[in-house]
Amino acid sequence: SSVPSVLLNNGVRMPQLGFGVWQVPDDEATAAVATALEAGYRSIDTAAIYDNERGTGRAVAESGIAREELFITTKLWNSEQGHDSALRAFDASLDRLGLDYVDLYLIHWPVPAKDAYVDTYRALEKILADGRAKAIGVSNFLPEHLERLIGETSVVPAVNQIELHPQLAQRESREAHARHGIATEAWSPLGQGRGLLEVPAIVAIGHKHGRTPAQVVLRWHLQLGNVVIPKSVTPSRIRENIDVFGFELDAEDLNAIAALDESRRLGPNPAEFN
Ligand code: NAD
Repeated sequence: SSVPSVLLNNGVRMPQLGFGVWQVPDDEATAAVATALEAGYRSIDTAAIYDNERGTGRAVAESGIAREELFITTKLWNSEQGHDSALRAFDASLDRLGLDYVDLYLIHWPVPAKDAYVDTYRALEKILADGRAKAIGVSNFLPEHLERLIGETSVVPAVNQIELHPQLAQRESREAHARHGIATEAWSPLGQGRGLLEVPAIVAIGHKHGRTPAQVVLRWHLQLGNVVIPKSVTPSRIRENIDVFGFELDAEDLNAIAALDESRRLGPNPAEFN
């Protein structure tokens, strides 16, 4: 496919652009994922809490695409944190997906109030050692959570998947990831399509390149080195969102987009979310 990959810190390659399925009902996930696979996506991002691992797995099975060409991510939900419960939750996710391994398994949120992410991560280390996940990582971890995790466990997370878009550029997290060799994966890369895609600076850059606002924003992520997982259930948008490898933003464009950072979250604060 035309999507470049990033090299994770354990030697595994991950497509830099994938397809996210949050808020896609299970019975619609099969069609949406099938459309994405037809459009050339090879990386799919789901989670136990999305309740669409079955529909996602069905599309994967029906696609006929060789397993090794796909990169499937799922995530452990907060209520299942803890060593033994994480092992059980992983088995259940694999079963729903109909797979015998995932490419990436993530702790969905740190839930610092529960103080269980270190024990939970030790279960992920076992899953990795067993070859049932090709890479393990975390999501929504703040730099302080990463520091503690790295200090108390042996496998540096391959990925931290965090909310990241031009209005929440996450400079501190990105610097922390770079220090530790952790890939930055952006969730809600399009700002959930709320407002960001109408920002005049983004629209103007799109006009300049003959591209849509969504393509401009995805291009910004890619040029920063982020992994992105835009979501859509609209076939034309699914195709539009992967058609971002035939143009390049220049320094002026990148500076204009950098000026949009408001450090404003759309989602919860990881320090508090349970
Ligand atoms: P997103 O930024 O990908 O935006 C998706 C929305 O933007 C769509 O529902 C649609 O309304 C709009 N959109 C998409 N393509 C468009 C286009 N080409 N033109 C115009 N509008 C378009 O938001 P998201 O779904 O929140 O995030 C993407 C993925 O990130 C999720 O599906 C999920 O896989 C992941 N995610 C992870 C977490 C986490 O805690 N780890 C949280 C949220 C999302």
